[in-house]
Amino acid sequence: MSFKAVADLDLCQGHQMCQGEAPEVFGYDEETDKVVVLEEFPDESQRSDVESAVTYCPALALAIQDIT
Ligand code: SF4
Repeated sequence: MSFKAVADLDLCQGHQMCQGEAPEVFGYDEETDKVVVLEEFPDESQRSDVESAVTYCPALALAIQDIT
């Protein structure tokens, strides 16, 4: 099963915790002060990093969508 990394920019508050957890998947735009999804469809090997980012995002702005 593959998955999609989803960010809700209305919720993102620019805390940048997600880049620490999954730097290959989540970036940061200084102008907008929001997360940028660098890799919308990460490799399965990155799932645990993305799950950590979802867990630790203080704004609950991130999610994983499983794709069957
Ligand atoms: S951790 Fe959450 S609030 Fe912070 S930049 Fe990432 S998505 Fe936005």
